[in-house]
Amino acid sequence: MLQQSFFGQRMAFNWATIFLFFIGAIACHPSNVQAAERSAPESATIDIHMVRPGVWVHTSYYTYPDGTRYPSNGLIVREGNGLLLVDTAWGESLTVTLLGRIKSEIGLPVRRAVVTHAHGDRIAGVDALEARRIEVYSLPLTQKRAIGEGMPVPDHALAGLDIPGSSVKFGSVELFYPGPAHAPDNIMVWVPSEHILFGGCAVRAAAATSLGGIADANRVEWPEAIRRARSHYSEATVVVPGHGAIGDLKLLDHTLSLFED
Ligand SMILES: [Zn+2]
Repeated sequence: MLQQSFFGQRMAFNWATIFLFFIGAIACHPSNVQAAERSAPESATIDIHMVRPGVWVHTSYYTYPDGTRYPSNGLIVREGNGLLLVDTAWGESLTVTLLGRIKSEIGLPVRRAVVTHAHGDRIAGVDALEARRIEVYSLPLTQKRAIGEGMPVPDHALAGLDIPGSSVKFGSVELFYPGPAHAPDNIMVWVPSEHILFGGCAVRAAAATSLGGIADANRVEWPEAIRRARSHYSEATVVVPGHGAIGDLKLLDHTLSLFED
């Protein structure tokens, strides 16, 4: 249904655009999208929501050609008189909108950014950040995959996260590589001061009834990746999934339960 209407409406688009759309759609579009959509206000494209002092979730709403709107979460962490951005908004122009909203609602400059894997809902706005001299970091594997998928490539590579279960300190946060799950290069972000775990797309929201976009997923390794995160961050009080409502460590259990069918 989605794919037919896309082709029907956008035949004039070039094939590269179509290809990129499908990469994003296949990678990120869960099957229960209709239910998730109904709760999104029609006018919203970006929401910024404070979850703890100095930590915000940013949510961008991507609109598919059939009108379906779907939310995607990233994180904003205050570091001194600046901000760390975790993941871009879902698209370059939405990322420009996000930066404007951060300026008006938080009023501090974004100094650095981390993208948590090479899918459009995480990485599509990298060029918009780098054009504003914001340093963007990712795994070397994410850089490589971004090139392969025609996505903008982060300038800076993160070292020390190659082995599943490894973590590195990055400013005020910790970055964690749980192993291949939703994507081979998915990383998580831990905010130790507030016990917040940004699980990204490897963690499913409580309302999710499927694993979501699994085009690049490793279904064999994914449960082990979740178990690694659970034992590493057993003190987490807030867990943020890549899409949908934030929760707590039960989201990790819920994600594991989705493998039982
Ligand atoms: Zn993804």
